[in-house]
Amino acid sequence: MRLIIISTPIGFLGSGKGGGVELTLNSLVNGLSKQNHFINVVAPNHSKLSQNSIFTKLVTVSGCEQKSWQHQDYFTKTNPSKSSIVNVMFEKAISLMKDCDAIINLSYDFLPISKTLDVDYPILHLISMGDESNEVRNIISRVYSKYPNNFAFHTKTQASDYPFIKDPIILGNGFELSKYSFQEKKNGPLAWVGRVAPEKGLEDAVYVANEMGEKLNVWGYVQDKEYASKIEQSYPSGQICWKGFLPTNKFQKELGQCRALINTPKWNEAYGNVVVEAMACGVPVVAYKKGGPGEIIQHGETGFLVKADDKENLLLNLKKIDSINRKKCREWVENNASSNIFADKVVSWLKKVIKEYE
Ligand code: UDP
Repeated sequence: MRLIIISTPIGFLGSGKGGGVELTLNSLVNGLSKQNHFINVVAPNHSKLSQNSIFTKLVTVSGCEQKSWQHQDYFTKTNPSKSSIVNVMFEKAISLMKDCDAIINLSYDFLPISKTLDVDYPILHLISMGDESNEVRNIISRVYSKYPNNFAFHTKTQASDYPFIKDPIILGNGFELSKYSFQEKKNGPLAWVGRVAPEKGLEDAVYVANEMGEKLNVWGYVQDKEYASKIEQSYPSGQICWKGFLPTNKFQKELGQCRALINTPKWNEAYGNVVVEAMACGVPVVAYKKGGPGEIIQHGETGFLVKADDKENLLLNLKKIDSINRKKCREWVENNASSNIFADKVVSWLKKVIKEYE
């Protein structure tokens, strides 16, 4: 197949602003190109792909940046201007379409979803978040009633935010496992990874680490500086070790030395890439059962799941983390979330939808 992938409009690929979508896009591109599908990636200026191949072409465009939906009022209405990045990316994708079989849209946005109704070629949407905008939810609902198979989700829990979706197509996610090394080490520090923003609940992980009498190592893009400094100021200095936003190879090496990952989502986490990345390195995860992590972590086998917002239970379970066999964590990822498994699922989805347009 010849495909077009529209990237997230939030930041350029490699900036960290787009969160897990950046990694999802890269592993999708790698998985599909290994199967000899040709992919055009349309992304904001300055974007870089994690790997180049003769089957991949990166087309960058410039436009006005936009704000992430989860950081705006739920009822905000959009009116994307001609120069908005989502509009420019979409127009570029359309201009490439004459030589291609389908567009896969990774941007959680009104415009590309609404355009599905105006064209007679397949635009497929891999929805990257739960219900974060009334406008996006309504357009998904409208388009879904005509093209139900054009939508896919990462997890069942994420899809349940859209109750009008019957039998959702669930794709999970994929990881380039050759990039993550398994580490046996059991006595390392505690880790937290994510965009530093309120929906990620860093404050609960810092609380738990502090109760354990340990520092917390934090990796990730600091999206909300005010939020970060408020947490920092509530604890003795040095309680949080800021490790920055690192490229995958460096990041996984450091993460793999940790004893446990603490994952504390406050929203319906669509998937939770960092949970799987930790497990790929052999690091067990203690997480709130809120969205994706609840479908990834096998309680008692690869980590522990506790009720959302229950910090005391998080602490109790963290104390049991040494009972987890780190090899089981890696095994789960190999059997469920490699980039090949993910690419196979995406190809089946594409074939089904493309057939409907023939
Ligand atoms: N990440 C990274 N380097 C770091 C820390 C995080 O590349 O130092 C990436 C990580 O690989 C993951 C993303 O940040 O893909 C966070 O994605 P996740 O799905 O956990 O949450 P989101 O930000 O999409 O809500």
